[in-house]
Amino acid sequence: MSEISLDLRDRRASFRGLEDRIFDLLVIGAGITGTGVARDAALRGLSVALVDANDFGSGTSSRSSKLIHGGLRYLAQGEVAVVREAATERRVLRRIAPHLTLTNPMVMPAQSKAGITSMRAAMWTFEKLAKVDKPERHEVWDRKRLQKEEPTIKADGLAGAVVYPEYVTDDGRLVLANAVSAVQAGARVATYAPVTEIILENGRVSGAVVQSSLPGDENGARIRARLVINAAGPWVDHLRLLEDDQAKNKLQLTKGIHLVFNHDRLPISRTVVMRTSDRRGAFIVPHGRFIYTGTTDTFYPEPEYWPEITREDVDYLLEPVNRTFNIEPITHDDIVSIWSGIRPLLGQEGKKPSEISRRDEAFDGPGGLISIAGGKLTSYRSMAERLVDSCEKKLGEKHVPSKTAEQKLPGGDFPGSFDELQTRVEKLGFEPEEARRVAQLYGGQVLDIFAGAKGPAVEAAYAVLHEGALTLEDYWVRRSARARFDDEGGLAALEPAAGAMADLLGWTEQETIRQIESCREKREFEMRAIKK
Ligand code: FAD
Repeated sequence: MSEISLDLRDRRASFRGLEDRIFDLLVIGAGITGTGVARDAALRGLSVALVDANDFGSGTSSRSSKLIHGGLRYLAQGEVAVVREAATERRVLRRIAPHLTLTNPMVMPAQSKAGITSMRAAMWTFEKLAKVDKPERHEVWDRKRLQKEEPTIKADGLAGAVVYPEYVTDDGRLVLANAVSAVQAGARVATYAPVTEIILENGRVSGAVVQSSLPGDENGARIRARLVINAAGPWVDHLRLLEDDQAKNKLQLTKGIHLVFNHDRLPISRTVVMRTSDRRGAFIVPHGRFIYTGTTDTFYPEPEYWPEITREDVDYLLEPVNRTFNIEPITHDDIVSIWSGIRPLLGQEGKKPSEISRRDEAFDGPGGLISIAGGKLTSYRSMAERLVDSCEKKLGEKHVPSKTAEQKLPGGDFPGSFDELQTRVEKLGFEPEEARRVAQLYGGQVLDIFAGAKGPAVEAAYAVLHEGALTLEDYWVRRSARARFDDEGGLAALEPAAGAMADLLGWTEQETIRQIESCREKREFEMRAIKK
């Protein structure tokens, strides 16, 4: 049917495939960092194994703000290198995955003419660093123009705004596209395969042991590799302890949450930057029928897939929304869904969460385990390229240049513009908003997938047969994004999707009910902080 094909149903074959050779690289963790590294290395011809304790992107990488952005605010912190890399990478991602980098203008309101002048100075530096083309450069709106373009913004006391383009992605699908591409280039993968042991021979790391975490599945593998990369995001320090039980923590974890509302409650056309009560920047992003706002930044003690969301987190984000816009106040009752994620930042003593650098770093453990942490979704590709360059050297392999800046990601190849793709999808009988949703998620694959029928059952079957989904949550949260951007968190999609998956994955009726219940419980957990 399509170039994408990642069918992970045969668990025995997946685990066996991890044992039949000594790999050049074993990558632990299939978030954006791990899948980016696996793809880069596999495309250069290295043999690669990639494993994850859960699903692709189930850690931080499906819980970000979904912005492919240059990180203008980091300029004020003197992080020129971080900004240069992120700003430049936006352009690369737009080329290799146009469906996952949709233009998303940012409106930064300013209270005074002096405020506009200083924002413009920052913008000029940013545009120079990022080599931004003329049509993509910033504009300045006076108050009148701001009122005309975004009439819901309270314009009293504002001098105007600076507006510039950034991009919005679907982070879970960006990870998946990298995983699929890695497999197409020859990488072996297993999900729901946590590393339980790092193998050391004569004090040197030579592989890892994985054990299936799916109920009733006894599969496991002893994977051998010349280099082992720890890309476990917030769990990086946990993996380091498996190599060296004396290893000191390197990471400082911070949590960020996002709230989703219906777009008609706050009909903005562009992302708007707001000031929080403690003078941080927050934003509100239009996303089809919905809008979302984020994010918080607070220390969090331990990595978790479902970090706790508190009422303070929710109220902290509602306050600037209701202060910035001229609307009937948004309350807890308006919240459609919530998500929270953990940033795996490199620790910096004495700094506030939002002041900690977003730079990435790779470091070797005493037995040679290579850990990589920090960074941003936006710069994952160049971070992977740098890491694989250094792995080639360690392996003594001839340098093969990275191909990831040129080779399109799965779904990224389609004729014409994204808007034209959306129009073609509409001709299949989709409403414009729904056409946009599926065109963004599936890119160039979309017309094949929905040629016959549409809806959750079709999407879920495709997720199993071509996108490596093994649980209902894999489909609901990370393949379809319905958990975030659908009415009532996509609860109505669970039954038809589970029905389609049950046939393909051989679930009993009891197992099908368990899968549905597990998703419902997760939603209840996320919505617990809301007063009803
Ligand atoms: P993860 O995605 O967490 O991947 C690590 C993987 O390791 C997980 O899948 C986990 O299951 C696996 N793992 C853990 N233990 C084991 C084990 N024992 N065995 C095997 N596998 C294991 N960046 C941007 O560029 N733009 C943004 O808008 C943005 N917004 C953000 C907003 C928030 C709230 C947060 C938290 C982050 C944001 N970021 C953003 C940063 C970005 O999301 C992260 O830098 C990035 O996702 C980290 O990816 P990762 O692959 O390193 O970690």
